[in-house]
Amino acid sequence: MTGSGATVLVVEDDDEVRAVLVRELGSRGYRVQDAADGRTALERWEASRPDVVLLDLGLPDMDGLDVIRRIRRDAMTPIVILSARFAEREKVEALDRGADDFVTKPFGLEELHARLRVVLRRGAGPGGDADGRVVVGPLAFDARRHEVRVGEEAVDLTPREFELLRVLLGEQGRIVTKGKLLRAVWGQAYQGEDSYVYVHVSQLRHKLAAADRTGALRDLIVTEPGIGYRVRAPEPAAAAIEDKT
Ligand code: CA
Repeated sequence: MTGSGATVLVVEDDDEVRAVLVRELGSRGYRVQDAADGRTALERWEASRPDVVLLDLGLPDMDGLDVIRRIRRDAMTPIVILSARFAEREKVEALDRGADDFVTKPFGLEELHARLRVVLRRGAGPGGDADGRVVVGPLAFDARRHEVRVGEEAVDLTPREFELLRVLLGEQGRIVTKGKLLRAVWGQAYQGEDSYVYVHVSQLRHKLAAADRTGALRDLIVTEPGIGYRVRAPEPAAAAIEDKT
């Protein structure tokens, strides 16, 4: 599957990295624009409103976080951050200001492409059908009936665990920060109480694993160290199978 004509704005001051991104994304069917600094990036964004922005945070003329803020003032255009390894604080801050995801340098082009695909698909709305049912492999989550099943087995979750799973499944394939989970499941007053999240995610994983005879859900909830969690997106595998038929 290719970029299917989506326009991506690449904002990166490193000439070599930018050239690789422009070439590779172009060869995958994206229409690519590029900018080497924040001012040019915002001009390009204003002029053409790309479908997605790929943004390096360390720019020569302004903080990448200000680029996010400026874009978010007007639009929900997906923003994927290019960030250095060990820059967890920076990533969390960018995500909390409205960036949609990140890739860590040095990154693989397959990983980058997968991230772009997820944030672009996101435009179609959150996962699940109108009744609030989400199915991932053997896991069936039913918001209306307040029911979680793995295969034939019902999984008994506490209200917090249920809510945690609901939020995570609503963001399949995307990063969800600890802060976002705390706000969504516990409320604003619990900001900074990361241990609540660790403990409940651990219990949730344990309960799902106990009901999962196939092991298919083993890596359903992936930890992004220092940042949060990501629920595996099942779609790429399904798409690959469909492509063969
Ligand atoms: Ca840079």
